Amino acid sequence: MKVQAFIGIGSNLGDRLVHCRAALDRLVLLPGTTLKRISPFFESEPQEGVEGGRFLNAVAEVATSLSPRVLLGHLQEIEAALGRSPDHLPRTARTIDLDILLYGDTVMHEPDLTIPHPRMAARRFVLAPLVALAPGLRHPVLQMTTTELLQRLGTEHPAAVSGMQR
Ligand code: ADP
Ligand code: MG
Repeated sequence: MKVQAFIGIGSNLGDRLVHCRAALDRLVLLPGTTLKRISPFFESEPQEGVEGGRFLNAVAEVATSLSPRVLLGHLQEIEAALGRSPDHLPRTARTIDLDILLYGDTVMHEPDLTIPHPRMAARRFVLAPLVALAPGLRHPVLQMTTTELLQRLGTEHPAAVSGMQR
C-alpha cells in the first residue's frame, strides 16, 4: 500500500533551480515511489538565521511504499549526491535540503526523524508551496489545514516565481 507524502525541497547555494530539478529527477527514480505533483517554486529570504542568499523552495507530492525512515535515508543520499556535505553545519547555506513534511497521517518522534516536520507550521516557505498542492490537507497533530496554518502566520507570503519552468 502506498502512502501520500509531501517532501520539502530547498536550495540557496549555487544554481538553485538546477539543484532543485536534479533532486526532483532523483525522486522520480526512488524505488516504490511515484512522483505525483510538484508545486510552483517560491523564493524567499533565508529565515531562522540561515546564512546565504535567497532560497528557492518547492514541495513534491509522492505516493510511496517506503517507510519514513527508508525514505529519509534516500533523501539524505540525494542531498549528499547533490553536494551537501554530511557534516553540514546548521544555519549555513545549502545546495539542497530535502525534508519529509508529511507522511500520510503518521506522527512520529525519534531523535533524527520527526513527522510531521517539526518546523513546517512556522515556515511560510514550506506552507506556501504546500497550500498550492493541498489547501485542504489537515496537519495530523495541529488539526488545522495547510491553508489555516499559512493564514496564521500573517500576510507576508513568499512570492511564487513566475516564468520558471518546473
Ligand atoms: P532543516 O531541514 O530543518 O532546515 P537540516 O536539514 O539541517 O534542518 O536538519 C537535518 C536533520 O533533521 C537531519 O539530521 C534529520 O535527521 C533531521 N530530521 C528530523 N525530522 C526530519 C524530517 N521530517 N525530514 C528531514 N529531516 C529530518
Ligand atoms: Mg532538512
